[in-house]
Amino acid sequence: MPFQQLNIIEPILKALKHEGYSKPTPIQEQAIPIVLKRRDLLGCAQTGTGKTAAFAIPIIQLLVSDEVQQNFRGEHRGHTHPKPIHALILTPTRELAVQIGESFAAYGRHCNLKHLVIFGGVSQHSQVEALKRGVDILVATPGRLLDLMNQRFVNLSQIKIFVLDEADRMLDMGFINDVQKVIAKIPAKRQTLFFSATMPPIIAKLADTILHEPVRVEVTPPSSTVDAIKQQLYYVTKNDKPSLLIHLLKDTSIQSALVFTRTKHGADRVTRNLEKAGIKSAAIHGNKSQNARQNALNNFKTKQIRVLVATDIAARGIDVDSLSHVINYELPNVPETYVHRIGRTGRAGLTGVAMSFCDAEERGELKDIHKLIGKQIPVVTEHPYPMSADTPFVPAVDNRKRHSNSNSHSKPHSGGSSHKGGGGNAGGKKKFWGKKG
Ligand code: AMP
Repeated sequence: MPFQQLNIIEPILKALKHEGYSKPTPIQEQAIPIVLKRRDLLGCAQTGTGKTAAFAIPIIQLLVSDEVQQNFRGEHRGHTHPKPIHALILTPTRELAVQIGESFAAYGRHCNLKHLVIFGGVSQHSQVEALKRGVDILVATPGRLLDLMNQRFVNLSQIKIFVLDEADRMLDMGFINDVQKVIAKIPAKRQTLFFSATMPPIIAKLADTILHEPVRVEVTPPSSTVDAIKQQLYYVTKNDKPSLLIHLLKDTSIQSALVFTRTKHGADRVTRNLEKAGIKSAAIHGNKSQNARQNALNNFKTKQIRVLVATDIAARGIDVDSLSHVINYELPNVPETYVHRIGRTGRAGLTGVAMSFCDAEERGELKDIHKLIGKQIPVVTEHPYPMSADTPFVPAVDNRKRHSNSNSHSKPHSGGSSHKGGGGNAGGKKKFWGKKG
C-alpha cells in the first residue's frame, strides 16, 4: 500500500519521497489512520518498526490542518505571543529525543511547524530561548521537562496531542513518577498515543488510566526483518574473542558495525583492544556522559568511526540508518534481546549481517536463542580462532585436567562453579553441554 492511500497530505508525501520511503511499515499502516481520526492509540512496538514516523507523520498532518482551519476562521495568532505547544512527545533518553526531533524535521520539512528537542545534561539556555520563540511540537525527556516546567518556561495547557514513547523503558529507568507529574499538567481533553515494546501489568495499568477508548496496534519484533538478516555463528573461546573481533573488523567491507557486550566494563575493554589494533571505535554505555554518548553516536552516524561498542541498555533506541553489521561479542541472557540486537541491521528492506560469538559458557544462551528464532544460526567454521562446537565448558581451575583426560568431562561442571557464579542459567547450559559424541 502506498502512503497516498493513507490520505497523507502532499507536503508530507513529498518529504517521505525525499527520505526514500516507498511504502508504510506495518505499524504506520495501522496507526496513521487511527491517529488521523484523533483516536487514542496503544501501540505495542519497539524501535526499528518505524514507530516514530507512525506518530510523527499524523501529528504533523493534524497540526497543519488545525492551523489551516484556524487561519480560515481568521484566528491568527498575535505576533507578540509565542506559539502555544500543541504536541508533546515524552521519551526516556536523549538519544531517542534527538532521533524523534530529526524525524519531525525530516517529515515536516515542507510544513511550517516548529519543533524543539529538550533534554538534560546540557545547558538549558538555548532550550529556554527556543521555548520563548515558540514551538508547536515539543520532544522532551521527563527530567528536563519537569525542571523547565517548574521554572515556568514551559506551558503545557494547550497540548492537543500527547505521546508517551517507550513507556516500559521509562519504568526501567525510574521515570514513571516524573511522567505522571507531567501528565497531571496537560489537559485531560487531549489525544494520547502510548507506545511500549512490552506491556508488564504496571505499564498496562498506566495505559488504562491515561488513554481514552484506545485502539490497540501491535507489531511484534519484525520477523521479516530478522529473516532478511544474514546470521552467522562463530564458536570461539572467551580468550580468543578479542583476536577474532579484530580479524573480522579488518575486513573493510564491514562499513559500520555495532558491537554488543553485556557489561559496561566489557564495552570499554573491547574498545581498548580495538584501539590497540588500530581500529577506531567508541563505546556508549550508562557510565559515559550524555555528551560523550552523543558524540560517539554522531561520529558513528557520520561514518567517522566504523565501530560502536554498546551495552543493551545504551543501544536500545539507537537508530542508525544503513548499519551493515551487528556483532554479538557476548550473547545476551535474554533471547528476545538477540532479536532486538540483530534488528538494528537489515532495516527498512536493507540487508544486514549479524555475527555472534559463542564461547563454551554461552551455550545455554545460544540454545534459548535457537528456540526463540525457530532455527539454528549457520556456523562459520572458516576463521582463524575456531573452537569445536563440542568443546565442553570447564571451569578455569580444571583446565589442566581437561587435557589429561577428556572422558572425565561428561559431567565436568556439575559443581556449578561457572564463571558467572552459577544461577538458573547454568542448569540449562549443563544440559545442553552434557550431550557427548
Ligand atoms: P523507528 O522504529 O521509528 O526507530 O524507525 C526505524 C528506521 O526505519 C528509521 O531509520 C526510519 O528512518 C526508517 N523508516 C521508518 N519508516 C520507514 C518507511 N516507511 N520506509 C523506509 N524506512 C522507514
